[in-house]
Amino acid sequence: MQTVKFTLLGTGTSSGVPLIACNCDTCISTDIKDKRLRCSLLIESPKSTILVDTSLDFRQQMLLYQVKNIDAIIFTHHHFDHIGGFDDIRAFNFINNKPIDIYANQTTMKNLNRVYEYAFSTPEQMGGGVPMINPYIIHNDELVINDLVIQLIKMKHGKLDVLGLRVVDFAYLTDTNYIPDESLQKLMGLEVLVIDALRFDQHPTHFNVSQALEVIDLLKPNKSYLTHIAHQLKHKETENILPPNVFLSFDGINFELPF
Ligand SMILES: [Zn+2]
Ligand SMILES: [Zn+2]
Ligand SMILES: [Zn+2]
Repeated sequence: MQTVKFTLLGTGTSSGVPLIACNCDTCISTDIKDKRLRCSLLIESPKSTILVDTSLDFRQQMLLYQVKNIDAIIFTHHHFDHIGGFDDIRAFNFINNKPIDIYANQTTMKNLNRVYEYAFSTPEQMGGGVPMINPYIIHNDELVINDLVIQLIKMKHGKLDVLGLRVVDFAYLTDTNYIPDESLQKLMGLEVLVIDALRFDQHPTHFNVSQALEVIDLLKPNKSYLTHIAHQLKHKETENILPPNVFLSFDGINFELPF
């Protein structure tokens, strides 16, 4: 049976966990599941390898998970924890001697262009130091890359329009605090849902744990994993109080689904 594999390369909030200079229980924990890099997802099908976001920990993640090729990158939004590794795309350019296709909505692409202007324009001098990209603005609800069909899920992250995605019966919804009805319709019958749940307290742009649980209750996926986790959530203690079939994700967890 052919499968598609989804690996969470990072599951931490924008600051990562441990947080610099913090002495809280989670930040000094020796549990490996309390060490969280910034959020990113790797999708591997028989014919494609697709990365979701170039996190601030992109280089470390590529080395740790021994990623040798990326066919395309999809950006969920332009917050720096999701784009900060962009310049290191160059490594794949060097190895494969070709540009990488990148996909984002209009707002995200505009901001990528603003932050990494040197990669979007003709360089003043060619020294090999500039990421080579083919940028594509996403207009449709679906993206086909080689053998993968990716359904794009429109969501809100505060005021920002961001993208989640669904591939077969797996959905990845990082950085959101509102999912409109038409997007919820596309998330029925999931085997695995990965969803933003920053902490217990409310936040203006992220779901907290109880809000994520409300969405889970509505969608009823077989299993759900919370991500984009802040240091207020210690792994073991939090898992102990979650309902059955809801788990706290951790770096490196992966899911293989029939394809
Ligand atoms: Zn984020
Ligand atoms: Zn802390
Ligand atoms: Zn964000």
